Amino acid sequence: MTELLTDRMSTLATGAGSTVEFCGLRRTFGATTALDGLDLEIRPGELLALLGPSGCGKTTALRTVAGFERPDAGTVLMDGEDVTRIPAHRRDVGMVFQSYSLFPHLNAVDNIAFGLRMQGTGKSARRARAMELLELVGLPQHAERFPSQLSGGQQQRIALARALALRPKVLLLDEPLSALDAQVRQTLREEIRRLQQQLGITTLFVTHDQEEALSMADRVAVMRSGQMEQCAAPAELYQRPATAFVAEFVGVMSRIPGRLASDGRAVHVLGRSLPVHGELPGSTDFGGGARDVDVLVRPETLGVTAADDGTSRITAATFRGAGTRLTVRLPDGREAVADVPTAAATALGAGTAVTLSLPDCPVLVDRPRGAARPAGSAVQQPVSTTRRPWRRTR
Ligand code: ATP
Repeated sequence: MTELLTDRMSTLATGAGSTVEFCGLRRTFGATTALDGLDLEIRPGELLALLGPSGCGKTTALRTVAGFERPDAGTVLMDGEDVTRIPAHRRDVGMVFQSYSLFPHLNAVDNIAFGLRMQGTGKSARRARAMELLELVGLPQHAERFPSQLSGGQQQRIALARALALRPKVLLLDEPLSALDAQVRQTLREEIRRLQQQLGITTLFVTHDQEEALSMADRVAVMRSGQMEQCAAPAELYQRPATAFVAEFVGVMSRIPGRLASDGRAVHVLGRSLPVHGELPGSTDFGGGARDVDVLVRPETLGVTAADDGTSRITAATFRGAGTRLTVRLPDGREAVADVPTAAATALGAGTAVTLSLPDCPVLVDRPRGAARPAGSAVQQPVSTTRRPWRRTR
């Protein structure tokens, strides 16, 4: 797949550049609300990753575009046309599943050509198209192989070629890499991204792997409980998360105690006053006056200096190559995580007393963890300084 034939792109072209819009999508399964008024626009030719904790509705949203789920309310628009009630087989979408889902009794070329056969395309035309796609995914030499004679990564490439065979307007990828080992996953990530960009096909990608989402997508939509929490470019999501939930779901985040000024615009933390970024969580029921808050801090922004009179203490130093990750116990007993250059970490071993610092930049604040919550206010997600071990349930 690495040698993509750009001069053939016109013949390989899909129905590129379509827009997909979710407008107030709602889908319930008995007492479970999978989608709760989901609004989202996927722009022409972009790769948008749907990210969120297990059960937040990512797959249901994807299946709604495919036509495998019918929402209870709301609409799906494709290029402005309402396709909500159009059956799956009449929608212009190609889908790749986690489990490859190739037909075991068909060889690679016949798997790819299957949809064309169903459409009534003649034998030589469909073989020619299948061979083009085999070249596109880098497997022309495997045309006659059956799925059982292909590796997982090769099967997924065939599944991708099959999804593209009918020149769909939209490509839907449902955790396509999660069954593959780390190295193949990395290679395929890059290949799918290159292919998607060259074809310019609008792509919706469901993943539970934030690294995958951040590294592949033009924009990442973080979902929570069937709703959109934030949709933004990866760097913006990481650097300027709109909510504490996004901040802690994407990347590693520590909580440091701070004191919010009564006007809510500045917070006193680690001996300095810093501007507050974004909306205060539940500000209407948070009460007036100065109050205790948690300040959310990325590992790379937390400064650590050895100091005999330091009130924090390093509990672990983990070598990670160019950088070292320090775990620091705060005076209140909580732990924070800091990344420092390994060259600067020699004096920062476990047991070292340290002082912590922050740069002069706006910070995100949240209620103190475990703080009493006024009745009826939004429930905050439990937090941790580690990545969340979310998993698929199905
Ligand atoms: P995961 O990352 O674990 O795959 P997800 O974000 O893709 O999760 P969905 O698969 O969309 O979540 O499911 C959302 C909610 O709807 C979950 O609580 C799930 O159990 C429920 N759900 C999904 N499909 C069905 C179904 N066919 N019948 C009953 N409940 C369902």
